[in-house]
Amino acid sequence: MIPNLNHQENIKQDTFAFIKALNESDYSGEIAKSYASRLAVATDNSVYQCLPQAVIYPKSTQDIVLICQLAQQPEFVDIRFSPRGGGTGTNGQSLTNDIVLDLSKYMNNILEINAEESWVRVQTGVVKDQLNDALRAHGLFFSPDLSTSNRATIGGMISNDASGQGSLIYGKTSDHVLALTSVLIDGSLLETKPLTAIDLMEQVERQDSIGAIYRQVIDTCESQKENIEQSFPKLNRFLTGYDLKHVYDHDTGTVDLTRILCGAEGSLAFITEATLHVQTIPTYRTLFNIKYDSFQSALQNAPFLVEANALSVETVDSTVLNLAKEDIVWHSVKELITDVPGQVLDGINIVEFAEADEAIQQQKIDALIVKLDTLISNKEAGVIGYQICNDLADINKVYGMRKKAVGLLGKADSTAKPIAFVEDTCVPPENLAQYIIEFRQLLDDKGLHYGMFGHVDAGVLHVRPALDLCDPEQEKLMREVSDKVVALTAKYKGLMWGEHGKGFRSEYGPAFFGEVLFNELRKIKTVFDPLNRVNPGKICTPIDSTEQLVSVDAVKRGAFDRQIPVKVRESYAPAIDCNGNGLCFNYDTTSPMCPSVKVSKDRVHSPKGRAGLMREWLRQLANNDIDILQLESDLYAGKNASIFTRFKNTLAKRSGEYDFSHEVMEAMKGCLACKACSSQCPIQVDVPTFRARFMHLYHDRYLRPMKDYFVAYVEQYAPLMGEMPRFFNFFTGLKVTSILTEKIVGMVDIPQLSSPTLKSSLKKNDITEFDLQKLQALSAAEREQYVLIVQDPFTTYYDADVVRDLLLTIKKLGYKPVMLPFKPNGKPQHIKGFLSKFAKTAKDSADFLNQMADLNIAMVGTDPAMVLCYRDEYEQALGNKRGEFDVQLFQEWLKPRLIGDAKPSVGADFYLLGHCTEKTAEPTSGNDWAVIFKHFGGSLSEVAVGCCGMAGTYGHDAGKLAESKAIYSLSWEAAIAQHERSQCLATGYSCRSQVKRIEGETLKHPVQALLSLL
Ligand SMILES: Cc1cc2nc3c(=O)[nH]c(=O)nc-3n(C[C@H](O)[C@H](O)[C@H](O)COP(=O)(O)OP(=O)(O)OC[C@H]3O[C@@H](n4cnc5c(N)ncnc54)[C@H](O)[C@@H]3O)c2cc1C
Ligand code: SF4
Ligand code: SF4
Repeated sequence: MIPNLNHQENIKQDTFAFIKALNESDYSGEIAKSYASRLAVATDNSVYQCLPQAVIYPKSTQDIVLICQLAQQPEFVDIRFSPRGGGTGTNGQSLTNDIVLDLSKYMNNILEINAEESWVRVQTGVVKDQLNDALRAHGLFFSPDLSTSNRATIGGMISNDASGQGSLIYGKTSDHVLALTSVLIDGSLLETKPLTAIDLMEQVERQDSIGAIYRQVIDTCESQKENIEQSFPKLNRFLTGYDLKHVYDHDTGTVDLTRILCGAEGSLAFITEATLHVQTIPTYRTLFNIKYDSFQSALQNAPFLVEANALSVETVDSTVLNLAKEDIVWHSVKELITDVPGQVLDGINIVEFAEADEAIQQQKIDALIVKLDTLISNKEAGVIGYQICNDLADINKVYGMRKKAVGLLGKADSTAKPIAFVEDTCVPPENLAQYIIEFRQLLDDKGLHYGMFGHVDAGVLHVRPALDLCDPEQEKLMREVSDKVVALTAKYKGLMWGEHGKGFRSEYGPAFFGEVLFNELRKIKTVFDPLNRVNPGKICTPIDSTEQLVSVDAVKRGAFDRQIPVKVRESYAPAIDCNGNGLCFNYDTTSPMCPSVKVSKDRVHSPKGRAGLMREWLRQLANNDIDILQLESDLYAGKNASIFTRFKNTLAKRSGEYDFSHEVMEAMKGCLACKACSSQCPIQVDVPTFRARFMHLYHDRYLRPMKDYFVAYVEQYAPLMGEMPRFFNFFTGLKVTSILTEKIVGMVDIPQLSSPTLKSSLKKNDITEFDLQKLQALSAAEREQYVLIVQDPFTTYYDADVVRDLLLTIKKLGYKPVMLPFKPNGKPQHIKGFLSKFAKTAKDSADFLNQMADLNIAMVGTDPAMVLCYRDEYEQALGNKRGEFDVQLFQEWLKPRLIGDAKPSVGADFYLLGHCTEKTAEPTSGNDWAVIFKHFGGSLSEVAVGCCGMAGTYGHDAGKLAESKAIYSLSWEAAIAQHERSQCLATGYSCRSQVKRIEGETLKHPVQALLSLL
């Protein structure tokens, strides 16, 4: 049995008192101090881990003013704060052991859009894609781009001075910031924008911290004019971190403190609002995917492409391409980047042209086509082919792949994982090819694996060497490589941080700025933050401070993870491998990725949050000398704790006894087990798998709630109740039964059993009964005409019409459907972590289905989640004992059997709202249905929706009812409202029952619509 994990990382006394005082003030935001909430922000995408004291989520600028004013009280002067947005930094910029000030949760409103004057005012917790979605209706967009655009915030972009694809034309974030509202640590409000003459004079004469800031900045810029000119390299990605080059215009005398804040990595002030310049969306866009025989050829050809006046040129190497090919994302681009027959494709350049004038655009495209054709026919420059996309959706797909590639670089099968520490160097573009040769040599000499891609137009190279930081020797190697890359980059007159900021690389700041200029930075830090309380250690320290800068030698995640035994790390790889890139925070409500974090806005309830908790749980168990793998095998062997022990432990839990496992359990209970993470996360962090294992172990210590049994045994009681549906429906339909079910069992909206039953429909519709001997006697040709239908408890007993229509459709198509006897699938047991029972159910069912598979007759199931369980959970539970049986989804079975020409269109348009488990695990499913409908004269389009909020039984859990409905309203509500209800289709039983209970009317399954077309 797992022990009670009662060790707590205690919060410091002054922080405790501060939180108490804040709670008692007019502060309107939220404060989190649970271990789980602190752990959720203890990492970003870097290798570092710092546990904060607490996390504060302000709701307004005034809240932050209050926080800072309170922090001025003498008893709180040792408390420090680090602002945080999406937490996607690659170098630990937002990490701290003090208090995290997270602006992403509440301060995410778009305040004003002025389309005429091309600007927008936002709170800084707004996500970049959220902003562009709002601007699209006005024909505008915020142009600085970055790979993390679906979760990085404007505050994080400003503070890291983010940029990416298209930066030669669009510049960096700082080029588009018109004004900022910030709060200083002393509580004063700093409004910044370009100031000239009188306005400037007024500020300089102020006798407060703001006056001191202006005076210091002007003094530094005037006294160091030449030094600044010489030290800041003339690169597109200039030297960030107190941008002395752009803050003061010596010709006009204009001072813009906004420039100092951009790229300051939250080390000067808390930026709460930003006014941003926005641009017109280019009307014409064209993308060339140019293919090369090697990465080096692609790199060397880049200047030639830049000369073609492209908006951007991006290079991707074969390692990254191959990683993308193995990921779900490749499915969306495989037609846009095809292989070249007879040639090895080892690198590509993605080149974009974007113009408002069609003629200019065409001219550029034609010119490049001529040049590329010449190179190809002369076999020059390693160009082996190219493809052009003009369609915006296709262009977005290619960029989607490119953006995900950064995350994919973090994926690896070995214990050495590609990590960020030298991942965004920047050199003058003309030096890039030579620089990369030396860079590769450096990594090759150390025997390190890596993939590369970059914004070659700007000289930025993305590379993540693979290291195992659980090995202390490899940690030393990281430091060695880091130092060598610093030297190499300096040799090529470049920058160590071309894109992602400094964070824990701040220690290299003096080397790049030079001692004199670095001292000026420290003077600037002093006037903003004299006591080093704002994101301390990042970029620089105040001039009189003796504190150190943060360093690449800081405590890393590996230091914690290495405490977990290797075997456990391997076994729990889906949790251990999360690298914190934050893709699971995707703000897009129409994406299936993590409904629980979307609805709760709580990072604890994200795949990353759950993976982090799991790692810590495993670490604590290891430190308690618990062999978790042994415990699990004991449970499988039936060695459970006694009911008395569990009762005793549960009483202790009810009386408030702390156990870290309860915090983990809370996070796991919020998970819908929709499995979107297991395919959408670039590292394939698979929460439902480790969640089930955790629950299995947890409930050996603590009693289960009654609803767990209610869910897990549905496959046992539904067939019995299904024999007398009207009798049971009468009881479950009574108000008193609903009240009792909610109060006693904790479940709501229990669905009614199907009446008439499936059994009676089969008889009425003359469906062949299952007779094994008869089937065995069929010839091979006859078997081709048969289809075996695999039942699941939900459609068979609660949605029998769907199964009936499936059988009728199969019949109408000229095949003979045969219903297999009902066999429990086990998925409900898996969801609730009854893993020992699930193993038995899965074994029984697999034995049966393998026996049926010997008949060599196709097997088809109805509900996607249940069918996919045979592929995934069965594989995990049974390994090679699973056997080779294959249960197909209806569309998988039918599509290859379509013969002859498509029927003429009958004008029937249908809309498919896909099941999240299905469309993430089998991304071609929507398209397969579309092909089938077209074949029979209909049309079907896939509607972009996230999760419906039901996810099996989650939506029936009384404690989750509000969340379930809120998830529905994130995307399904609007999607359903936009289309004729009768034309909306859903493959998932859960989705149909969620629509029914919320809209009062169910949706059809696609087979039912198909039947109407036949
Ligand atoms: C897979 C991957 C790809 C990436 N690709 C790119 C890329 O193409 N281009 C690029 O530029 N970057 C890239 N990054 C780095 C990172 O995503 C960006 O720099 C991003 O702008 C950070 O935004 P965030 O909201 O996540 O900020 P966080 O990580 O939360 O914070 C970043 C810094 O900003 C400070 N900060 C945040 N909000 C505020 C505020 N309101 N006031 C003051 N300070 C604040 C924090 O203290 C911290 O120092 C990538 C990262 C990953 C993981
Ligand atoms: S769970 Fe996956 S997507 Fe989320 S942070 Fe971890 S690796 Fe990234
Ligand atoms: S299974 Fe779904 S709800 Fe659970 S963590 Fe993964 S994406 Fe989120």
